[in-house]
Amino acid sequence: MRDSRFDILFDPVQIGPVRTKNRFYQVPHCNGMGYGRPQSLAAMRSVKAEGGWGVVCTEEVEISPASEIAPHLEGRLWDERDMPALELMTSACHEHGALAGIELAFNGYATPNRYSREVPMAPSHLPVRMFDPIQAREMDKADIRNVRRWHRKAALRARSAGFDLVYVYAGHDLSLAMHFLSRRTNRRSDEYGGSLPNRVRFLRELIEDTKDAVGDRCGVVVRLAVDQLLGPGGITAESEGQGAIALLAELPDLWDVNIADWSNDSMTARFAGEGYQERYIGFVKSLTTKPVVGVGRYTSPDAMVSLVKRGVVDLIGAARPSIADPFLPRKIAEGREDEIRECIGCNICVSGDNLSVPIRCTQNPTMGEEWRRGWHPERIAPAGSSDAVLVVGAGPAGLEAARALGQRGYAVTLADAGTRLGGRLIHEASLPGLASWMRVVDHRAHLLRQMPNVTIALQSRLSADDVLAFGARRVFVATGSMWRRDGLGRHHRQAVVAQPMAGVFSPDDALAGATIASPVAIYDDDHYVMGGALAEKFARAGLEVHLLTPATKVSEWTELTMEQARIQARLMDLGVQVQTAVELVGITPTAAGLTMELTSIYAHRPSTLACASVVLVTMRDPCDALYRELLARQPRWQESGIASVQCIGDAYAPGTVAAAVYAGHKAARGLDAEVGDADAVPFKREVVAIER
Ligand code: ADP
Ligand code: SF4
Repeated sequence: MRDSRFDILFDPVQIGPVRTKNRFYQVPHCNGMGYGRPQSLAAMRSVKAEGGWGVVCTEEVEISPASEIAPHLEGRLWDERDMPALELMTSACHEHGALAGIELAFNGYATPNRYSREVPMAPSHLPVRMFDPIQAREMDKADIRNVRRWHRKAALRARSAGFDLVYVYAGHDLSLAMHFLSRRTNRRSDEYGGSLPNRVRFLRELIEDTKDAVGDRCGVVVRLAVDQLLGPGGITAESEGQGAIALLAELPDLWDVNIADWSNDSMTARFAGEGYQERYIGFVKSLTTKPVVGVGRYTSPDAMVSLVKRGVVDLIGAARPSIADPFLPRKIAEGREDEIRECIGCNICVSGDNLSVPIRCTQNPTMGEEWRRGWHPERIAPAGSSDAVLVVGAGPAGLEAARALGQRGYAVTLADAGTRLGGRLIHEASLPGLASWMRVVDHRAHLLRQMPNVTIALQSRLSADDVLAFGARRVFVATGSMWRRDGLGRHHRQAVVAQPMAGVFSPDDALAGATIASPVAIYDDDHYVMGGALAEKFARAGLEVHLLTPATKVSEWTELTMEQARIQARLMDLGVQVQTAVELVGITPTAAGLTMELTSIYAHRPSTLACASVVLVTMRDPCDALYRELLARQPRWQESGIASVQCIGDAYAPGTVAAAVYAGHKAARGLDAEVGDADAVPFKREVVAIER
């Protein structure tokens, strides 16, 4: 039963001619599926609608080949032929009582039109936002008329395709209307440039066109970036943000307000907590009587209620919380808010879109797999047998395997050598800014503890003989991985440090409490969070820190999670001394400590760095000794009652936490599943139709 405290979240909200069933609003979000994988996309959106979101929106949807964002796979509505793909989504939303929203987008100088090869357009001549050596040209009046016409036609197609809400997009520095609004991108001296009313003119025209075209049946939503976090040089809440809303206050049916660019809008937990956008968007409702939606990675129903009651927003916008838990609204409605799978704020979801591959999520292993593998975030096949299952290792892989197997109804024993559940996350979540990563553990531990068919055995380090003696029919080995201490990795295919050396540590040592003496040098050939987060930890503890990497930026892979620039800036602020593009040649013990011998990755330019300790962040080895010992005892499996032993997660191949959770989930789904043709593609895929 629903807690009456949350009743207000289930009030309907009128948006122009349409009405939501509640205040849960899945704002537009990219997903790496777009027009290229429409069935996958529709199934993902359908699950959100089923999970209770009152509004489910598309990602940005291109309206014309004059502005397309290849190779990113976003939505597409260039002409009628794109409608059937979008209709898959609208009918799925309507089936579950959700409104469907579409974010029409014309990307202006933000895209080089790599596919269509049309010359990009912008308010003023400007190099495109990406690094392509191409410029967008200044639009003339005919161009402006053309874009307005394309937008209007796309809105009409959207209405025909069944959308209830049609967006005019002026956010993220990705949309032409925002480019007109911002002095950074608009140097015009005609009626579309100069004063704020002039810079707002194009946005106003698009809103009026859209209302005129589809406003009879569709709510018209404006997504506006009210602040760019660039100070007076960019859009600020005090200037364009408030000014534009004051000028256009009653024109749209709904204001969807956020901060730009996307890396600001979707900040990771390392840099912003729940509700971080409120201080920028808090003014909006004071300037309009129209409803307002805003985001801030809200996962707490209490925080949501407070937002509505304090008059900050009318609708709770969510992208990542809806990805991590598509059933968040239903769980609140059913009094199961303790079961919400809270987003951890890692942006692994964003990495999928940035790479044009289907979205994935650390917390929700079914995300992106709804159609191609038929995975549902809440439903799973019941146990196919009464086999008892032993899962060894309670890190993310073992926890998720045990949880999903428990949900299936298997009798599961989850054993771990440690005193706490969580595996690698126990230490990793202690790094600066990563505390919310522990939600991966907490959510699963909470569910496991309520399952009568699951037994948790901590402080139980199992040998192969223990496993044989245990008598489970199915065994999953999820025993994790260990960082190497010798420098072998991506850059160095041979060990750099031949023998264990005093003062040279692995991240595991450092996280387990080894004494790291200052100055410390971190050599990062992993390029994800570990190297940068350790540098931050040491610097905050007052150590002199050097971060060295063969990459050209610190934590380079975090470009894909939109964190890289913030990480580099934070390390600079903390006084960490960064050397990029350096190769580690060797480490020599000296009377004073250690000397690192280095050279450039480009040419022989030897240098040295004296330090007291070194942490090598290069690669991990699977801890698969138990698995290998069990394989060696295969002849004894039958007499021990063992039918199968499977190695999963980091013990199989070290990777991200998302990969470990996914592996655990996949293994649980696979138990007793029909084994198909081993050579066949193991999931459905969308094959290009050939026109004849
Ligand atoms: P993953 O990311 O694949 O889930 P982790 O490294 O997070 O892996 O977790 C592995 C877990 O396995 C750790 O908690 C560790 O204590 C546990 N473990 C390793 N070997 C054994 C063993 N022989 N018996 C029981 N638990 C083990
Ligand atoms: Fe949240 Fe991470 Fe999942 Fe994205 S990938 S929704 S940030 S938990």
